[in-house]
Amino acid sequence: MSRYSEEEFLMLSGLQHFSFCRRQWALIHIEQQWADNLRTVEGEILHDRAHDSRFIEKRGDVLVTRALPVHSAELGVSGVCDIVEFQRSPCGIPLQNREGLWLPVPVEYKRGTPKQDDADRLQLCGQAMCLEEMLACEVPDGFLYYGETHRREKVTFTQALREQVREMLAEMHGYYSRGYTPKGKPSKSCNACSLKELCLPKLCGKLSARAYIAARLQEDAGCENY
Ligand code: SF4
Repeated sequence: MSRYSEEEFLMLSGLQHFSFCRRQWALIHIEQQWADNLRTVEGEILHDRAHDSRFIEKRGDVLVTRALPVHSAELGVSGVCDIVEFQRSPCGIPLQNREGLWLPVPVEYKRGTPKQDDADRLQLCGQAMCLEEMLACEVPDGFLYYGETHRREKVTFTQALREQVREMLAEMHGYYSRGYTPKGKPSKSCNACSLKELCLPKLCGKLSARAYIAARLQEDAGCENY
């Protein structure tokens, strides 16, 4: 099994960009249109939490760890988990200075509402796979918490979801090592893309981004497959 070196690690948060649009991921993570900002933000979170005396809270049979850095040499990825709950469980692992066994459960906070696609679930599954490699344990489930609905959605890390994470990361490493930005296919998704003003003029030649989207929407009218 091949293992990546630390210099080759990609950002875990890229999974959600990649599943939304491969070109968007490449613009952010290969061409660095946003990557520095993301790294800075993640770095600041880490810095703040490292000095936070509430880094580990105990709520009954749950230990709560915030801003936990995670990585996987097998997947070649690193990132930060918003929250990892260690729940007391016979299926868990021993923790230093704690009695009993504790099962890690990643919890990712999102501002909006649950998405139709798997972007958030893939990112959470990537976190779980990092935790499994680092802690040598099984992480069967996690939660997505949505700020607008104030609800937790349970995510089970199925073999299919794990395979998708592996395949996507292998594809991302392929693009990254070649420095290749996929062309992408403009679609309705471009409306929701924060890089559309940067991307579409290059992709569409002389047509303005707005005109291109309007044209595509007309073409795609009645078609759900975008
Ligand atoms: S504008 Fe469209 S094609 Fe370009 S990066 Fe965004 S989603 Fe992808």
